[in-house]
Amino acid sequence: MDNITAKPLLPSTLTPRSQLKRNHGEIIDLTGSDGDDDDPSSQPNTVARQEQEERPAQRRKFGDDESESESDEDSMIGDYVDHFEVDPYVAASERDGLSQERSKALCIELRQIGLKAFTDKYSRSIPMRTLGTAFGIDPELGVPDEMYAGILRLAINRAYIKRLKLSQHNTIDDAARLLRRSKKTMVITGAGISTSLGIPDFRSKNSGFYDQVQALGYADGQDVFNIETFDQNPADFYSLAGAILPDLKRFSPTHAFIKLLQDKGRLQRNYTQNIDNLEALAGIKPDRLIQCHGSFATASCRKCKHKVPGHAIFEDIRAKRIARCKRCVKDLAKEVTRPKPMRKKRSSLKLHKNDWDSSSGDEDDNIPEPGVMKPDITFFGEQLPGSFFDQLTDVDSKDVELVIVIGTSLKVAPVSEIPNYLPAKVPHIFISREPIEHVNFDIQLLGECDHIVYELCRRAEWNLKHEMIPRDMRVNVAPVEGSTYRWAITPAQIANEPKPQKSSKANGA
Ligand SMILES: [Zn+2]
Repeated sequence: MDNITAKPLLPSTLTPRSQLKRNHGEIIDLTGSDGDDDDPSSQPNTVARQEQEERPAQRRKFGDDESESESDEDSMIGDYVDHFEVDPYVAASERDGLSQERSKALCIELRQIGLKAFTDKYSRSIPMRTLGTAFGIDPELGVPDEMYAGILRLAINRAYIKRLKLSQHNTIDDAARLLRRSKKTMVITGAGISTSLGIPDFRSKNSGFYDQVQALGYADGQDVFNIETFDQNPADFYSLAGAILPDLKRFSPTHAFIKLLQDKGRLQRNYTQNIDNLEALAGIKPDRLIQCHGSFATASCRKCKHKVPGHAIFEDIRAKRIARCKRCVKDLAKEVTRPKPMRKKRSSLKLHKNDWDSSSGDEDDNIPEPGVMKPDITFFGEQLPGSFFDQLTDVDSKDVELVIVIGTSLKVAPVSEIPNYLPAKVPHIFISREPIEHVNFDIQLLGECDHIVYELCRRAEWNLKHEMIPRDMRVNVAPVEGSTYRWAITPAQIANEPKPQKSSKANGA
């Protein structure tokens, strides 16, 4: 287990962007002038429009892959900004930093006057570590000033490109209206849409999955999904993967909701971060689905790239046994039977238990080993499927009419960056158990997503049927205190228990 090393100061719930091998695409030289973002004629009420016009510059950067050139310091800066975005520093008193009112005013001004003018104005008049508090950065952060400046630059830049809430959309009825109106709805999904089926949300603190991972000695639960870790010690992944292996027989009412959108010709695309492949089971067509982190639908050999249907290795996963590549085994068998006078022949292909651990110490590179099969889920340290970036930037961002984010806390880049990337006028609805702060949504519907999509459909006068939805289900919709656009949705009454159906196949129509 010597491959597991201490990590820098990272909150465990966050994924270092660098591990996803994507470019931040956000660090802008604040001293450089590109002319159009410091236009003094900009008025507050034109900010949204102005942003739409400015965003193309940002857009080009989304998906640019310059990750190879990203330095460790860049990735650490990104990690710190991720952290403060989700868990911002708030000054307790004026002595500790800028007040919330002042911070808010500065953020508004930043959007009005642009990056360059803002930096010119405040980089000298406010001490750096005080200015940082307006962007949620802890003034006591124990990093050298030079790095602190990098963190501040990136934080300011993120604040600048952050989407603004559209004031006209606030209620669940607004959401239902948007649903009916939109002919191209983008649905972004995460683990929360599968938890009602018993598939653990492994980013949730209470899922237990990461506890299991940590019991194996990993500092961070996500390390088991690190490609280097996998290559060095695939046994750990195989001992755990059974817990997240798709059941393949059921999908949730939320999956049925996405299928319903497709049936109505309104699903532009479903970008899913899930690897359970249940979207396919629910009937989402391949051309409507982008599996941002891959899926268990196929598996590939780490050595010869041989690809097989995912289910071919499920038995091994369930038995907690490392799956070997059959093609490699075949090729090796041929090699072994072929006379090779120059090389000492191995009598058996059977691997000794310690072959994996001793590979670095053993100098004999000629010992043949069949490759290890890996499900085609995207591990940290691997590229995301190219289809994600192409589809988003070249096609979907151009004509999307509505975005619904369901069951994800949007903490993992680059999916987390989609709302800030899309045109400012596109309404965004958020559906999940917990509210989020680091992305501005127009409407936040909080509760069980299966209940919420049911209620949305009911209000849109659509009939969402699913065996897990009780007949005549009614829900309560209550405003969350202190908010005009956050709503808590809870079941009000259940008139009938779910009626057992003859077929286990749910009806999404
Ligand atoms: Zn192979």
